[in-house]
Amino acid sequence: MGRLIIVSNRVPSPRERSQPAGGLAVGLKDALREGESLWFGWSGKQVQLHGGDPVPRLDRVDNVTYATIDLTPAQYEGFYQNFSNGILWPLFHYRVGLMNYSRTDWETYLAVNAMFARTLLPLLRPDDVIWVHDYHLFPLGQALRDLGVTCRIGFFLHIPFPPWSLVRSLPGADLLLEDMQSYDLVGVQTAEDAENLNHALRVNNLPERGQAFPIGIDPVEFRMQAEKSMQGAEVERLESSLRGAKLVLGVDRLDYSKGLPERFRGYEAFLARYPEHRGKVTFLQVAPISRGGVEEYRQLRRQLDELTGRINGAYSEFDWTPIRYITRPIAREVLAGFYRRSEAALITPLRDGMNLVAKEYVAAQDPANPGVLILSHFAGAAPEMEEGILVNPYDPDEIADALHAALTMGVDERRTRWQALEQEVSRTTAISWAADFMRALEAAPVAGQS
Ligand code: UDP
Repeated sequence: MGRLIIVSNRVPSPRERSQPAGGLAVGLKDALREGESLWFGWSGKQVQLHGGDPVPRLDRVDNVTYATIDLTPAQYEGFYQNFSNGILWPLFHYRVGLMNYSRTDWETYLAVNAMFARTLLPLLRPDDVIWVHDYHLFPLGQALRDLGVTCRIGFFLHIPFPPWSLVRSLPGADLLLEDMQSYDLVGVQTAEDAENLNHALRVNNLPERGQAFPIGIDPVEFRMQAEKSMQGAEVERLESSLRGAKLVLGVDRLDYSKGLPERFRGYEAFLARYPEHRGKVTFLQVAPISRGGVEEYRQLRRQLDELTGRINGAYSEFDWTPIRYITRPIAREVLAGFYRRSEAALITPLRDGMNLVAKEYVAAQDPANPGVLILSHFAGAAPEMEEGILVNPYDPDEIADALHAALTMGVDERRTRWQALEQEVSRTTAISWAADFMRALEAAPVAGQS
């Protein structure tokens, strides 16, 4: 058995203390298995390069070699900022209206994928197994095949795959589907995504190859983290600042896919319709700024600033603030304790590939006195988490009712619901996700040799 080669847009530096907050980095770090592996991708740095391809920088830590390349400012803008984040991200989160298509960016996207393939090639051995991650790199498999690579290559899409009627609004979407033929296996998060992908392939006269592999976390490690964080200074400070109030917690990158304005309006409706909770509940939203260079994200920030100001202005007392809103990241180790301390999690994405926060919330709870998970139907995690309170995030009154139900729910019902959720979170973990995908990839017929 050869090495495992992981390719993702961004490679987290093994020596940096602050890791990027994101499901992909967290899931893969947990999932990197024993044996030799190589993780290839962008360093996160931009460097002006005059002619030729960049040379990968190698850094070995334990059994993993990290191989990273820099992007030029033009590549960063066209490939990453514009095409990946400004075109593919909104489209694949069902927001065609936010897609800012440009043919130049499409060309840069293809060129950077070809450059990834050329710079990875000299590092490859014939018996390696390659696992490509996410929407930045749809065409990478084909680019590698064009250079003669015959290894097994698998692809996993961390974001949703919407119906073809939406995807086809992207000029060149059919070409992306054709490029995906170069992969021996294509994994997506949910059964709905797999159906959508396979339908898209069918109507384009291509063989179906989508399979669902829902990503997970390491629940045992996370529970330990939560217990440890409960003893830490941050949870103690949080506890004393609450002065007996119940805590509702939201944790998301500041992204329009996360349904944050809808959530704030839901909480506003809750305060309006259930005045008995005023002064007795605090909503803490942690939303670290993400992709601050893209206009849609700046707009969202302005909208949330305004909503928070309005709601706090209308409902605050001189000794109570209804919403605490933080746009800086909080370390995952600390968050684990916040999850455990809170009476409810309010997670309302309009669309989300999976949503690891929902799984972390479950793993962090005290089995004797668990909090309640309120989760959008449109999170990829929802089909696995039906014992939470599932809501339609577009209806503020439904969010309000769910909050009231969660905060008044008896301990027996909370325990019953939590036990079912916990079982699910322990069944599909980061480790089992990676193992299931690798097993299926090794069993798949090899596209590169057919
Ligand atoms: N996270 C964090 N600090 C923050 C906010 C989020 O460490 O301030 C972590 C969170 O614990 C989770 C990840 O970032 O592990 C977010 O993953 P998720 O799948 O929920 O969303 P994504 O960011 O991938 O869309």
